[in-house]
Amino acid sequence: MKFDCVIIGGGPAGLTAAIYLGRFRRKVLVVDAGHSRALSIPTSHNYPGFADGISGAELMRVLREQAVQYGAQLKTGLVSRLTRDNDGFSLTIDGETVTSPRILLATGLKDHAPDMPGLHQAVADTSIRYCPVCDAYEATDLSIAVHGSIKDAESKALFMRTYSRDVTLVPDHDDIDREARARLAQAGVAVSEAAADIRPMDGGIQVELRNGHALQFDVLYPVLGCDVYSGLATGLGARSTDVGCVIVDDKQQTNIEGLYAAGDVVSDLHQLSVGAGHAAIAATAIHRSLPANFR
Ligand SMILES: Cc1cc2nc3c(=O)[nH]c(=O)nc-3n(C[C@H](O)[C@H](O)[C@H](O)COP(=O)(O)OP(=O)(O)OC[C@H]3O[C@@H](n4cnc5c(N)ncnc54)[C@H](O)[C@@H]3O)c2cc1C
Repeated sequence: MKFDCVIIGGGPAGLTAAIYLGRFRRKVLVVDAGHSRALSIPTSHNYPGFADGISGAELMRVLREQAVQYGAQLKTGLVSRLTRDNDGFSLTIDGETVTSPRILLATGLKDHAPDMPGLHQAVADTSIRYCPVCDAYEATDLSIAVHGSIKDAESKALFMRTYSRDVTLVPDHDDIDREARARLAQAGVAVSEAAADIRPMDGGIQVELRNGHALQFDVLYPVLGCDVYSGLATGLGARSTDVGCVIVDDKQQTNIEGLYAAGDVVSDLHQLSVGAGHAAIAATAIHRSLPANFR
């Protein structure tokens, strides 16, 4: 089967683009390795339209259903290779080759997580959280730890002060950054000794410090960086930022003609609604760039 567009990554961004392209009567294949970050969302309360919240798994279920309803073909698999020639792009999906004139990369990223037992359950219980923009509101008046280097964690710790008076930056290594420490102290953020061990406890997180003391928190936000899954694009010469996010124009197209990108693989603001917006823009531009499909 010939496709007008292959979407690599079937998270919220890729599936939203598939819905749009399906409704533009385009033939679309979505290839997904099945590790969407959305699947870890216990309940999202900031996605517009769901006043009582929606779990990531349920959102993914309805997006998939809607994409299929408009004719998108969904395939489970890993795209290991993407090449380009005069006719468009070739992809290798678990040994099989598929060609397409347009590609939308919506492969997302992987957070660096603290090395602790029971991490998955702690995320499900919301004692480990990754995204203050997503869920700091739900941490209002809780005791909050922000864990990472002082340099990287400072702005998240300050952000959390909007929600709680009880915010502690727990460094991941010994670090004397006097200016940052002064700014944090001025804002009422405590800075602890460096962490030696982090583990879940009943109703929260226990942090053992290198000086042997232990602290307990209701919630811990790790700020340990991430791996952006942009290698398929950068391998073709697409430009990316220092952290690996793909750089796109105002139509979500990379500097490689015909290669578009959407969602967390593009943006520093890792949000469902940002990915949906990218997807709408990219899908509309892809439709307009393809030969007309008049009835
Ligand atoms: C715990 C947690 C809570 C969150 N809460 C919220 C919230 O409340 N509100 C909010 O707006 N956002 C929230 N987020 C962020 C949100 O989940 C992401 O912004 C969103 O999932 C990004 O969508 P995406 O489609 O860009 O990437 P993803 O959802 O990560 O999907 C990318 C997909 O591409 C696949 N893939 C990658 N490489 C390949 C390849 N080579 N071949 C095939 N498939 C590939 C992956 O397996 C994955 O399925 C949260 C994230 C986490 C981790």
